[in-house]
Parts: sequence; C-alpha cells; structure tokens
Amino acid sequence: MENLPKIELHVHLDCCLSYDFVAKRRKISHEDFIKNFVAGDSCSSLTDHLSFVRNELELLQTEVDLRDAIIDLFNQFKSDNVIYAEIRFCPLLHSEKGLTPEEVVKILNDAIIECQELYNIEANLILATLREYSPEQSQLIYDLAKKNKHKKVVAIDLASDEIKYGIGNHIGIYKLAMLDNVNRIAHAGEVKGPESVWETIENLNPSRIGHGVKSIEDSKLIDYLIEKKIHLEVCPSSNLKSKIYPNLKEHPINELYKRGVSVGINTDGRTMTYTTLNNEYQNLINVFGWEKADFLKCNINSISASFLDNDKKERYIKQLINSYR
Ligand SMILES: [Zn+2]
Repeated sequence: MENLPKIELHVHLDCCLSYDFVAKRRKISHEDFIKNFVAGDSCSSLTDHLSFVRNELELLQTEVDLRDAIIDLFNQFKSDNVIYAEIRFCPLLHSEKGLTPEEVVKILNDAIIECQELYNIEANLILATLREYSPEQSQLIYDLAKKNKHKKVVAIDLASDEIKYGIGNHIGIYKLAMLDNVNRIAHAGEVKGPESVWETIENLNPSRIGHGVKSIEDSKLIDYLIEKKIHLEVCPSSNLKSKIYPNLKEHPINELYKRGVSVGINTDGRTMTYTTLNNEYQNLINVFGWEKADFLKCNINSISASFLDNDKKERYIKQLINSYR
C-alpha cells in the first residue's frame, strides 16, 4: 500500500508536527515528545484528546515556524504517497507573537505554493472556525476564506468539541457561504449521535462531514447521505484515541463503506493520534481484510468530494485507477 497514491482531505496543521520539527525548537527526548504531544492511552474523551493541541500551537506562532510546519507536513505526505491533500487550520490560533490572521493565511498560502513545486504534491487550505467562537470571530474567518477563495483556500470548516459547544454561533457564516458559493464542511457525528449530523446538515448545508461516523446509528441518515452524496471524512485511529470506539473492529468505517456511503480515509491529527496514512490503510487490511479495490474506491470518493475543479478530479481519478490496477 505504501507506494500507492493517496488522497487526504481531513488533516489539521496544528496536530501534525513531527518529532524532528519539535526537537529543532525544543530540547526534548523522543520519550517526552510522546508524553507531551501524543494523546496517550490515559486520554479518556474527545475533550481530553483536544487538550494536546496546545503544545503544538505554541510552536506555530511565527512565519518561519508556520512555513516549516507546511514543509514538515509535505514530508509526511511524501512518505505516505499522498498526491493531493486539503490542509485545515484556524487562522485565529497563530497570533500569540503578533501575526495577524491575514498574515497567517498568506504565509500558509505561499508555503503551499512553494512546497507543491518542490514535492510535486498538490494541496489546498481549509479555514476552520471553532464551535466555541463567537459569531464575530467566525465572521473574521469567513471573510478571510472569501477573500482568499481564488488563491489556495477552498472551503470553511467548523471544528472542535461537539459535546461542549453548539453550532448556533456559526449558522450566519454558513448562510453567507451558501450565497457566496464558498464550499462548506463541518465536523459532526464524531462523539454525539446522528442528531448532530442532522443538525449540521440542516443548518450548515455542508458537502462533506468531518467524521460523521455516528451516522451509522440512523438508517434514514445513511440513505440521506447516499442520496445527497455527502462525503464522510473518516479518521479511524483518531476516533479510537479519543475513546469513541474501543477498537477498529467496532469502528463503523467498514459498515458505512459497505452500505454505500462515500467515505474516505484520513489521519486527522498525525501527531496527536501518532499515525500515518499508511498505518491507517494497514489497519484496515488487518482488521477488515480490505483490498486494493476498496482503497481505490475510497480514494476516488475522496477526490470526487474534494474542492478541485472537474478537470483535475478526472485527471487524479485516471492516475488512481492506473496505479491501483
Ligand atoms: Zn478533525
């Protein structure tokens, strides 16, 4: 699987710093890196899991660090043979040392353009607002997404803890996004049940759902996702780390896939979950006996649900088919 091309749509920049990146900035042993940056087995919930982001964010507050984090992530894409990725981040979380959110977007935008050339891997950016943010904070992020729509920014996302916070503060920007033709995705159905996915679909009208795995508990919702071609960005190991499912065997990815939902395979937070895309694929082979054809289907699902234009999608689909056959 390692040499086969892959698409990744759900990956957070601030959850993916490698040990090398961290060790260049802090005197830290590999053991301490695991302790402080990787969510351990004692992590008991999504809230607990999310608390590990803090250490990574501290290292993402300057132009050089942000640029290097993109290079770091492209190196990880290279080892996984990712050919196209959509990288998400929240522009308001990188201003502790004086960068403005606008500068943050520009730095990441330029770093991606530079890395695309160097690595021959294509990527775009998704701007995420957080559930705990006010309507004004969300508006700021939305304005940046709209302003950078013709650069590398392809969509808005709603992230963070769905147990603790609702979606009410963000309905306004999603309505604007619909009017302005800005692409929309949102995290939902990760911890809370199908009602959270329904609420998100009805109010935010996203074309993709981050996680959405709890949809499996409602067959009407499954039918709806299939009918409306709403894609689920599934991140199996991430859900295990945050104790949503006890093991992969009990994770619904296989059932969602078999029932015909458009699912893709993603890492979410490569550092926090301590995983790679190759690792995710290997786990699916080991536990569900997935074969090349299954991975091809999931990658075609992902590229079809990406925010690339149709010509590019077709080109990638051809490349995937040629490589997997
Ligand atoms: Zn996520």
